[in-house]
Amino acid sequence: MNSSKIVRAITKDGSARLFFEDSTAIVQKAHEIHGTSKTITAVLGRALTAASLMGCMLKDKGDTLTLQIRGDGPAGVILCISDYMGNVKGYAQHPEIELPPNAQGKLNVGGAVGRGTLCVAKDMGEGEPYTGSCDLVSGEIAEDITSYFAISEQIPTVCALGVRCDTDCNCTSAGGYILQLMPGASEETVSALEKNITLIPSISKAITEPEADIYVIDRIFSGLEYEIFDEFDTEYRCTCNRSAFERALISVGSEELSEMISEGKEIEMTCQFCDNRQTFNTDELKALLRSAKN
Ligand SMILES: [Zn+2]
Repeated sequence: MNSSKIVRAITKDGSARLFFEDSTAIVQKAHEIHGTSKTITAVLGRALTAASLMGCMLKDKGDTLTLQIRGDGPAGVILCISDYMGNVKGYAQHPEIELPPNAQGKLNVGGAVGRGTLCVAKDMGEGEPYTGSCDLVSGEIAEDITSYFAISEQIPTVCALGVRCDTDCNCTSAGGYILQLMPGASEETVSALEKNITLIPSISKAITEPEADIYVIDRIFSGLEYEIFDEFDTEYRCTCNRSAFERALISVGSEELSEMISEGKEIEMTCQFCDNRQTFNTDELKALLRSAKN
């Protein structure tokens, strides 16, 4: 299983749209890269799924969305970056911490995240990136995303996210949906949707259904005419390469580069998103120092 899948549907009258994602492969890849504990697999998995779903609301190739969750809990900062096709990468500052289950016997995502803020930045290529933020409601992430859309983008939204792990901390299922009302939605549509979302009490269980996408979309749009307008594969993707590391080294400035060179040692750098490691010897650092000075 290499890719995850996003399916987008809209009611025939255009008054509501639903983005569904099975992100199991993305979350498992994140677990393998970062060695996340069960709880942090759930924390990071939910954040990656949300960022991926929000990414595919961007308009153009090259646009990126950054979701940052800054809570005071032991997980530390969670950072995810996605593109307009929902491809996503991310990390949690403290991937290995583990917490006892919460009062409901579930992975304690809210406890790991804590209280703080959720920030979204959308870089659309030109000008300053759009940024918005809100306070975390519960740290459970889905509720926080719902609140973000209500407060920062004024779009009535329901977000559901779920991650399940086995005893080895591997992700067995992950996914979620974002349901949004478009301007002019009728009261009948709103009340139908409010009733329908209760048909899926557990999104992590729904993801395990055969044809989970149809299972979820059929229930949420139950009684409403709708069409699926597209579906596509998406994956955990980091686009870092050696020249990105070189640019990062140049950006530290000539003073620090000179210091590294005078120490005469190889410098090893690691990408925090994909664990790609690159080493630079003294000669290579000297060449970068010349670029830094130009
Ligand atoms: Zn990378």
